[in-house]
Amino acid sequence: MTIKAFTRPFTQQEPINQEAIDAATEVLKSGRLHRYNTVENELSEVSLLEEEYATYQGIKYCLACASGGYAMSVALKAAGLKLGESVLTNSYTLAPVPGSILNAGGVPIFVEITKDLVLDLEDLSKKASESGARFLLISHMRGHLVDMDKLMQIVDENELILIEDCAHTMGAKWKDQRSGNFGLAGCFSTQTYKHLNSGEGGLLTSNDEEFMARAIIYSGSYMLYERHGAAPSSEVFSNIRLETPNYSGRMDNLRASILRPQLKNLENNIARWNERYQLVETELNEVIGIEVPVRFKEERYVGSSIQFRIPVITDSEAKSFIKKNKELGVELKWFGNDDPNGFTSNHKSWKYVSQQQLNISDDILSGLFDLRLPLTFSLEDCAHLSKIIIWCSDEFIRK
Ligand SMILES: *Cc1c(COP(=O)(O)O)cnc(C)c1O
Repeated sequence: MTIKAFTRPFTQQEPINQEAIDAATEVLKSGRLHRYNTVENELSEVSLLEEEYATYQGIKYCLACASGGYAMSVALKAAGLKLGESVLTNSYTLAPVPGSILNAGGVPIFVEITKDLVLDLEDLSKKASESGARFLLISHMRGHLVDMDKLMQIVDENELILIEDCAHTMGAKWKDQRSGNFGLAGCFSTQTYKHLNSGEGGLLTSNDEEFMARAIIYSGSYMLYERHGAAPSSEVFSNIRLETPNYSGRMDNLRASILRPQLKNLENNIARWNERYQLVETELNEVIGIEVPVRFKEERYVGSSIQFRIPVITDSEAKSFIKKNKELGVELKWFGNDDPNGFTSNHKSWKYVSQQQLNISDDILSGLFDLRLPLTFSLEDCAHLSKIIIWCSDEFIRK
């Protein structure tokens, strides 16, 4: 049997829409690209974005900043992380997560994951009590939400300060509550491969006024915090304004102007991603020997990428499987590789953190494959690439 190769690029996003291009052109014509470069009582594009995102998210405060990684490190600082303090986080995540912890002066403690790619709550309880860590930076990696009710119980029992990395859960919910609204803060990325695209960018959200006041000053407010759109009142700043350094990492009006029109389309795009996800999920689930993570019924996810496991595949088989797919135009990522390769990463490659034993995660990651589902793929494309994956998997599945 032969199979037709897939020819679409996995890294091609949809174009920026005309409304966003027009808005960006207006900003360029005005010359006022800096967020604090406003006339009279004008709210800048960045401040408007902050207001609109806070409304979408259903939260009081929002700060737009330079990147998702920046949002996380500022969140840890604003939450009071001290030099050398431990921060619990997922073993399965991407490099900006341990990077943000180190950048904020913390030391990551990695928690195991389950085969459904969420935090192993038993390991979390154990490591929280053993370490006495005050912080949990949970990464909802690839959009998989853990049982948030059980998580919050552990957070409360251990009095953890919870910060959520929502780079892959912008728009997602657990029951009726948006991902990002469970703890002290939510951190989002608007980098090209996420759910909104401004090339680079980040959003930090919270209901805590003093936390947000600190984060705003850290982000480089030049004491112009009164010009923000979704910020606490100026009295909140008066206590902390002179004790909080400036770690410049602002967003500019050009980026904000192209994000605002995209935010209006987010819900529609979530439905489009999920159609694609569910099609591939259904196809892959037909194959005995391929396991797609099981999701909770309480989870309202955003399927902008899909993961599957071929348990007991060896490392050399995994490499052949990837090669075979690649020859047919399907780019799979493999998290089993010790060496980081094109946006994958593995805790063993983070040599700046002391090595930790994570046998359960290692075992899961050794058979874990991952692919993006950009909205430039049609449903037919998704059916096609599913067939290729299934075709290539045949010789590697233990029947
Ligand atoms: C992309 C990403 C981030 C933040 O990314 P930036 O590139 O800093 O905007 C954080 N966590 C995960 C899991 C990510 O994939």
